[in-house]
Amino acid sequence: MRIAIVGGGLAGLSLAYYLSERHRVTLLEKGGGASRIATGLLHPYPGEQGRRSWKADEGLASTKKLLLLAQDALGRAVFDSSPIVRILTEAQEPIFRAHAAKYGDVLMQEGRCKILLGMTIDAPLYLEGLRRASVARGVMFCMQEVQDLQELDEYDQIIVAAGAGALGFAESASLGLRTIKGQVLICEDRPLAESLIAKGYLVKNQGQLILGATYERRFDSEEPNLAFACELMEQKLAHFSSLVGPLKVVDCRAAVRVAMPDQYIPFCGQVGKKHWAVTGLGSRGLLYHAYLAERLCNNPVFL
Ligand SMILES: Cc1cc2nc3c(=O)[nH]c(=O)nc-3n(C[C@H](O)[C@H](O)[C@H](O)COP(=O)(O)OP(=O)(O)OC[C@H]3O[C@@H](n4cnc5c(N)ncnc54)[C@H](O)[C@@H]3O)c2cc1C
Repeated sequence: MRIAIVGGGLAGLSLAYYLSERHRVTLLEKGGGASRIATGLLHPYPGEQGRRSWKADEGLASTKKLLLLAQDALGRAVFDSSPIVRILTEAQEPIFRAHAAKYGDVLMQEGRCKILLGMTIDAPLYLEGLRRASVARGVMFCMQEVQDLQELDEYDQIIVAAGAGALGFAESASLGLRTIKGQVLICEDRPLAESLIAKGYLVKNQGQLILGATYERRFDSEEPNLAFACELMEQKLAHFSSLVGPLKVVDCRAAVRVAMPDQYIPFCGQVGKKHWAVTGLGSRGLLYHAYLAERLCNNPVFL
């Protein structure tokens, strides 16, 4: 079968890798996207409420498989498996105590906890590893912006894994996706023992100190806006400065996340006669992409 995948972020590349085991896969990518600027936090407890994510165990296991595969393809490490430290509010303490008792993947400490299964991934490097592993399996990569899915009519199946670009196609736009712009501040480099989550996060990754993030539901431009990002993250900057010492902002990065209309569970399924979409990964792309790719590949149409 000939399959076209639109989008070469986390979702598209993991799909390309798995589907190319049985099919001829072409991946079309226009450049950009959220995956390339993802901070790199992978763990099951994002969000203020500290709820365990949907399919947390499956997601962690699936991502781990692809991380190892990308590492093999590159011949170098793409993640740091040091636990992530979460500074807890009074309200969060009992929630994480309960996770520690039920799942045993959280180590409680005074006013904080260590998320033992957490890791920090170098997202651009990981994507490059996935790309190389996919090329080795025969995936064709085309730098091309797809304007309309009808351009791809010659393919047997077409999968939209285009992140925010999914809104540009009638087939996937009907899912009613929400867009949320995210900006992160790049701070002057300094040592940081572990990735920290508190009111926001502070992460040392890709040789940079990254403070995040904004959640902008209304925006005029997808481009980074340093002054506005600093304004929105003033409290986060002050908070982390009080924890690790003064932080000096030097730059900022931005991209758009997409989420399903009323929930944080992503979409992975059929949207037309031969059209499919894997989208709505929100802020949890690293947790969901590999699991969703495996899930779609196990659909009888692709077996
Ligand atoms: C600031 C920020 C920080 C984040 N940090 C984390 C984190 O620490 N941990 C985590 O798990 N998640 C994080 N995320 C979320 C994560 O980045 C996303 O969930 C994930 O990248 C979504 O992957 P995707 O493949 O669905 O979309 P994308 O990465 O956006 O990929 C879509 C691809 O499709 C391409 N495309 C779009 N339209 C077209 C078209 N018409 N033709 C051809 N190509 C097209 C784009 O160029 C892009 O490469 C963060 C997001 C942001 C914005």
